[in-house]
This record gives sequence, C-alpha cells and structure tokens, in this order.
Amino acid sequence: MTDHDCSDVLAELNLYLDREMGEIDLARVEMHLRRCSPCLEAFDFEAELRRVVARGCRERASEELRARILEALEACAGEVERDEDVASPE
Ligand SMILES: [Zn+2]
Repeated sequence: MTDHDCSDVLAELNLYLDREMGEIDLARVEMHLRRCSPCLEAFDFEAELRRVVARGCRERASEELRARILEALEACAGEVERDEDVASPE
C-alpha cells in the first residue's frame, strides 16, 4: 500500500467529485485528501468552483480559483520533492 501520488490525486479530482471512478480509487483519493492538506485545499477549491459555476458566474471566479488551485498544487509538489531538492518558493 503506497501513498497516492499528489499529482495523481489532483488530476483525478474531477473524477472524484463526479464519483466517476471505482470504489477503491475513491477511497484512495479520500485517504490521501485526509492526510495531505495542500491536496485537500485543492479539492475544496474545485468543489467551490463547481458551486460558483452552478450559480452561473463562472468566468471571473473560475480564473481566480484556478490560480489558487495551482498555488495549492505547487505547495503540494514542493512537499513531495522536499527531500530531494529544496526549491525556493520564488
Ligand atoms: Zn497530496
């Protein structure tokens, strides 16, 4: 049993939100989200994005949320690569 990779989780967020994956994958993503706060934040943004889109004001909000998702993604990737090479956040 290995940790679900952050980039995999982030790539699968939409499938997860749509429940368009098998039960085992759903459980794996959920387990990862519980242990990885950057991914959980990205998940929260994606869920919020859907609520905003559902309300019909997608353009401005989605751009801002996408940027915040990318930030969370970078923070997550930074944690994963920390033991190899510490990149300064600038
Ligand atoms: Zn993660």
